[in-house]
Amino acid sequence: MNKPTPLVAGNWKMNGHANSLAEFEALETLVSEKGTASCDVLICPPYTLVAAMASGAKGPVAVGAQDCHFEVSGAHTGDISADMLKDAGASYIIVGHSERRADHAETDEIVLSKAKAVHANGLVAIVCVGETEAQREAGKTEEIVLGQLANSLPAEATPDNSIVAYEPVWAIGTGKTPTTADVAEIHTAIRSALVERFGTAGKMFKLLYGGSVKASNAGELMVAENVNGALVGGASLKAHDFDGIIDAYR
Ligand code: PEP
Repeated sequence: MNKPTPLVAGNWKMNGHANSLAEFEALETLVSEKGTASCDVLICPPYTLVAAMASGAKGPVAVGAQDCHFEVSGAHTGDISADMLKDAGASYIIVGHSERRADHAETDEIVLSKAKAVHANGLVAIVCVGETEAQREAGKTEEIVLGQLANSLPAEATPDNSIVAYEPVWAIGTGKTPTTADVAEIHTAIRSALVERFGTAGKMFKLLYGGSVKASNAGELMVAENVNGALVGGASLKAHDFDGIIDAYR
C-alpha cells in the first residue's frame, strides 16, 4: 500500500536576517549533493525572508511561512494573508502552532479559518496540534489532540493540501521528547481519526512529529508508526544540524 512521502520541515520562528539566506543556500547544496532519499524538505523563515528565499531557491528545498491571516486583504495592521504569501513564493503555511495559540490566543476556530485561507490559495496547510504538560499529566493527551484536530482541520482537507503536525507543547524547545512508543500511540490515534473522517484518504495525510527533534534523536522518532517526518524549530537554523535530521531518511 502507498504511504505518504515524508517531509522534514524547518520552522525558523522569529530568527534570521538577510545573511541567514546563506544557511538556506548551504542546505540546498547539502540536500542536492547528498540526495534526500525519501523525503521532501521545507524551510519556513520569518515573513521578512520569504520572498528572498523563494526567489533564490534552486528547487531541492521548498519555502513556506509560519502563519497567515484568514482574510485576503484589508484593515489588519501587521498581518499577512495567505494570498500575499503565495505571491511571495511560499508553498506551505504553518497554522495553529502552539506559540501562536498561546501568544496570540488563537482558538481552533481561528486556526480553521486560517487553514481554509491556505487552501483557498492552493497552498499546503501544516496544521499543528498538541497538548500542554498539565493536560498530559491529567491523562488528556488524546482528548486534547483529537479535539484540536477535529476543530482545526477543514472539511475540505485532503492529503495534498493538508499536513498534520503533532507537537506536544512541553517538548517544544525544551530538549524533552516523548518516547517513540508514546509518539506512535498518539500518531496512530490521529491516523484513525483521519480515516474515520476522510475514509481511505485519511491514510495518506502526512503526520509530522515536532518537539526537540535533532540529529541525535531523529532516527528513533522518525521510525515510530504513522510518523511521516518532522517539524523542527531550533535544529533547523543551521544547515548542517538540519541536514543531520534529513539523514534519518537517507
Ligand atoms: C517547533 O517550533 O515547531 C519546534 C518543534 O521547535 P523545537 O524543534 O525547537 O522544539
